[in-house]
Amino acid sequence: MKAPDFQYQRPTTLDEATGLLAAAGEDGKVIAGGQSLVPIMNMRLAEPETLVDLTGVAALRTSRETPTGASYGATTTHMMFEYGLAPDVTRGLLPHAAAGIGYPAIRNRGTLGGSLAHSDSSAEWPTVMSALDATAHVRSVRGTRAVPVRELLLGFFTTALEPDELITEVEVRRLAPTARWGMYKMCRKPGEFAESLGVVLGERDADGAWRDVELWLGAATDRPLRLSSTEAAVRGRAAADLAPVRLVEPLAADIGQSLSAIDSTARHALQLHAVTVHRALRAAEGRTPHE
Ligand SMILES: Cc1cc2nc3c(=O)[nH]c(=O)nc-3n(C[C@H](O)[C@H](O)[C@H](O)COP(=O)(O)OP(=O)(O)OC[C@H]3O[C@@H](n4cnc5c(N)ncnc54)[C@H](O)[C@@H]3O)c2cc1C
Repeated sequence: MKAPDFQYQRPTTLDEATGLLAAAGEDGKVIAGGQSLVPIMNMRLAEPETLVDLTGVAALRTSRETPTGASYGATTTHMMFEYGLAPDVTRGLLPHAAAGIGYPAIRNRGTLGGSLAHSDSSAEWPTVMSALDATAHVRSVRGTRAVPVRELLLGFFTTALEPDELITEVEVRRLAPTARWGMYKMCRKPGEFAESLGVVLGERDADGAWRDVELWLGAATDRPLRLSSTEAAVRGRAAADLAPVRLVEPLAADIGQSLSAIDSTARHALQLHAVTVHRALRAAEGRTPHE
């Protein structure tokens, strides 16, 4: 199928972009890489009358280091992260996450801002940026505001953005030299969306046990989920002391499921998430998933 007709605008400044978006009202949408929006329009699940293309606004593709970390323009593509064309203040987490997104053609056009605004919980950036406690800077003709990514993502394809607002940049704090990160994407084959996505950030004691640990899970619920109960089960231990099966119960609590009430499909999904989190922990400890 093909998308219905629409007006196409390609501004070159931010003021022009926000002005066009405001003028278009509820029937307007911005387009960045088009890797999610165009398929949706072709399926006629979205029928915007006006598309405001952000790729002509040079300011949106600019990234820079800041005293506390880095700020990434919203149209920074996945591939720019992957190939080191955007500064990395996470000691490899951002390029690693980017390299796992879809296929090269998708990564070449798809953008950070577009992925966050699309708010698919099985996508990489929502979970990674939530784990990093990144802040999205948002702008409209009414002004600017800063929104923590954890508060921006409200559910499946739902964000806290107003129709006239666009994400301009995403701010990420520099990881401490002692911080460890690990990530694991469970999917049927490379290039596909995750069935389960685990991100670990934390610090370990000299004996290898996790002292502070933050665990985030994507593709399990309608938005990235912080795993507080699972963190408590991991704290004071190393992955080698924890079989994935030991994580199933705290994971069920984090997801809000009762183990005695769920069917075999939900139990299978829980086991998948437990393996994902365990492999992310092992990655953060510098081991391969099967070591
Ligand atoms: C075959 C295929 C496989 C894929 N696999 C993966 C995968 O494994 N992992 C993954 O994470 N993603 C995957 N994707 C999605 C891809 O990463 C998209 O690029 C991304 O989700 C959307 O970014 P975009 O720049 O293309 O946004 P667009 O498609 O242009 O826009 C998406 C939405 O965001 C809005 N938007 C865009 N930019 C902004 C902005 N700056 N401010 C406010 N709103 C904005 C648009 O209005 C639209 O609603 C895949 C896509 C395809 C087609």
